[in-house]
Amino acid sequence: MTKWVYSFSISENEGRRDMKNLLGGKGANLSEMCLLGLQVPPGFTITTEACIDFYNNNQQINDEIKAQSIEALKKVEKFTGKEFGSEKNPLLFSVRSGARISMPGMMDTVLNLGLNEKTVESLAKLTGKETFAWDSYRRFIQMYSNVVLGVNVSLFESTLEDMKEARGVHNDTDLTAKDLKELVAAYKKILLIDYGIKFPSDPYEQLWKAVFAVFNSWNNGRAVQYRNFHGYAHNWGTAVTVQSMVFGNFGDDSGTGVAFTRNPSNGDNYYFGEFLINAQGEDVVAGIRTPSPLNAESKNDSNKNFKTLEEVMPPVYKELSAIFKKLELHYKDMQDIEFTIEKGKLYILQTRNGKRTARAALKIAVDLVNSGLITKEEALLKVKPEDLNQLLHPILDPKFPKKILTKGLPASPGAASGAIVFDSHTAYEQNVLEKKVILVRLETSPEDISGMIAAQGILTTRGGMTSHAAVVARGMGKSCVAGCSAVFIDYENKLVTIAGKQFKEGDFITIDGGTGEVIDGVVPTIDADFSGDFETFMKWADSIRTLKVRTNADNPEDSLVARKFGAEGIGLCRTEHMFFAPERILAVREMIFAQSKTERKKALDKILPFQKQDFIGIFKVMANLPVNIRLLDPPLHEFLPHSKEENEELANYLHIPLKQIIQRGEALHEFNPMLGHRGCRLGISFPEIYIMQVRAIIEAAIEVTKAGIKVTPEIMIPLVAQDTELKIIRAYAEAEIKDIFKEKNFEVPYKLGTMIELPRAAITAAAIAKYADFFSFGTNDLTQTTYGISRDDGGKFLPHYSEQGIFQVDPFVSLDQEGVGYLVQFAATEGRKVNSKLHVGICGEHGGESRSIEFCYQIGLDYVSCSPYRVPVAKLAAAQAVIKYKKK
Ligand code: PEP
Ligand code: MG
Repeated sequence: MTKWVYSFSISENEGRRDMKNLLGGKGANLSEMCLLGLQVPPGFTITTEACIDFYNNNQQINDEIKAQSIEALKKVEKFTGKEFGSEKNPLLFSVRSGARISMPGMMDTVLNLGLNEKTVESLAKLTGKETFAWDSYRRFIQMYSNVVLGVNVSLFESTLEDMKEARGVHNDTDLTAKDLKELVAAYKKILLIDYGIKFPSDPYEQLWKAVFAVFNSWNNGRAVQYRNFHGYAHNWGTAVTVQSMVFGNFGDDSGTGVAFTRNPSNGDNYYFGEFLINAQGEDVVAGIRTPSPLNAESKNDSNKNFKTLEEVMPPVYKELSAIFKKLELHYKDMQDIEFTIEKGKLYILQTRNGKRTARAALKIAVDLVNSGLITKEEALLKVKPEDLNQLLHPILDPKFPKKILTKGLPASPGAASGAIVFDSHTAYEQNVLEKKVILVRLETSPEDISGMIAAQGILTTRGGMTSHAAVVARGMGKSCVAGCSAVFIDYENKLVTIAGKQFKEGDFITIDGGTGEVIDGVVPTIDADFSGDFETFMKWADSIRTLKVRTNADNPEDSLVARKFGAEGIGLCRTEHMFFAPERILAVREMIFAQSKTERKKALDKILPFQKQDFIGIFKVMANLPVNIRLLDPPLHEFLPHSKEENEELANYLHIPLKQIIQRGEALHEFNPMLGHRGCRLGISFPEIYIMQVRAIIEAAIEVTKAGIKVTPEIMIPLVAQDTELKIIRAYAEAEIKDIFKEKNFEVPYKLGTMIELPRAAITAAAIAKYADFFSFGTNDLTQTTYGISRDDGGKFLPHYSEQGIFQVDPFVSLDQEGVGYLVQFAATEGRKVNSKLHVGICGEHGGESRSIEFCYQIGLDYVSCSPYRVPVAKLAAAQAVIKYKKK
């Protein structure tokens, strides 16, 4: 029989930390903490396999799962001496989601489960705290109604606000037991009258429905979007952790908090956290009340006048500190810990490796190595390659004045400017129009995920450093300023007052998530500084990786950026971008409209000097490194004039009638240009185009070599399908090169090879390799042609494929290893059989994506090539691949 349920408690524990895939991060770590003897409220975890079974089983929880859950529940009853649903000594549970990777706030949670009209009374009697018991019941009804019954809770919230107003009180905690009873009755009435639902009082019915809701929340819109954004698979499923409740809302000797064992923003080595007295966990993360600092180091502008936990409960703080130390040493990483204090007694509810900014991640990794806790290899595995992107984000240019309006919490680094928007929908719409926006909200909730993805940055008025906005933005690497209390939002009129100045929707502001500053208007930014920990860390990566990392760059400026990041050459220089410069495009069009070879050559002669200068510029920046230049690839119609004015300009320039221009344009039209007259097919039809480009490359290389700079040009022929195409082009290119060497009486080394970006090329790689010094896999086109999915139109339906789990990840983002990857591996192997010196790399977008890079390493490619800003990402991924492979 399948084991669907795992118990955890100090006396009976079935899980371990390395069972995350089965128990979710939360369940696995709760078990591990029990093994460490920490004070963890006992409970049980229903596995991710149960979630998968639930989806395979028409969204039913099967009987075995239920039976094993009841068995585990009985163990909790035995351990605690309480009974689920009992009127004498009721046991209450929290029901939480927990995937193998943490997805903060994306899925659902229910607290205080097991309360009903009877158990609430006995809870009140047993504890002697009627207010507490009824407040817990009120919270339970609200949460359960929202999460399990799918009810909009705004009606509950307004009822609560009305009640507070009627009683003349400010805080929820000022309400009396009588008030809370009335609220409970009012909530139930709303449910019955507005929704026709009778609130369930049977605890087991509550439990199964809550488990159902958590399983269901795996596929809610925001969780799907979150996984899409991070590239996580949709078929992992979530576990459900059912844990006995402890109460932080018991009174002033109780509380709840979240802490990190190091500062998650900058990595500084001190305990850092927030807590609330007399509250439940959700109150801290929801950002509704401003939490107090854990200790002096955790103070910030909005909580600096509050007392710290260290001050109000010194023994608890001392005990917590010892646990932080123990957990960090055990997990050998910075921990993010949730705790609850019930009547002065400390409980640990969760620990996990804390989410952190890339800057903090690097500092923590380097510090842990320096303190001897982990090795360099372990440190390299601690930073997700894609997270380095955060470090590469711009900061404000100090040369420019900035009118600081106010300061909030520096929740997630990076500077961003944009137009103010107040809701996620508008943020999304503006993003579609390629407009930059800053999402300004009281606080964010998981519903805002699409707006957060769309926005350049996020500004919130409430919430602390562990609020939803802060945690999610940090994970995304987006700039975020949170808890900015000098910001007053009027959602209705789409206005915001920031430190006394009014802004309307569409006005521009800048935020600096590194300092918390909110600034009037747009401030220019500059690139980040990559010294210190970044440099140390990248050196470690460089010393381990074997895969070379090149860059895709078309001009000296981008090449320089890539070189600064340590690119080891250019893996793809797309020459077509050079053709669009205003002084060249007319000559390019003249070449396209030419009626004869002589005319075409005349036009090409005009382009030649420009092309040569392009290559000289790039060769100089890339001194001593290989530069791979691809000959013209796109279909010619891409260069044709689009507007009436451009057509007229061309007619005047060429001295031919406008009508002829239009007719020629129509004749060049292709139904399927991606499969049309492009790539080497141009070189077959019009050899003079490629010959001009070859001449520009070789003449440039000679000139630069003569100036004392070593260059190795690589001439790359795109979209080859058959060996004979390459054979013909190679022959005329080599003849031209020979002529140039003779003319100049000077020779330079060069290579000539091809892209493999069509399935036929991959399958016949052995034949093609006879004429190639190198292969470079153009996996953008190879994915397009293997799947038969257009690169340009796929976006319209690929999301449906992701939603329905057909694609775990978009194959244009992460290489499809079974299909496209198979072709890559096959072609590399076959090619090398024929030509043992064949140099093999990849230059599609996948060359900058960590999973694809790991694959490239495993199949033995020589290099990957990616955009300049992804070079550090690729280097780290390449180093991680070596370490992971060694482990296996
Ligand atoms: C490719 O197809 O993967 C490639 C790198 O070329 P392009 O994106 O320019 O078609
Ligand atoms: Mg291509």
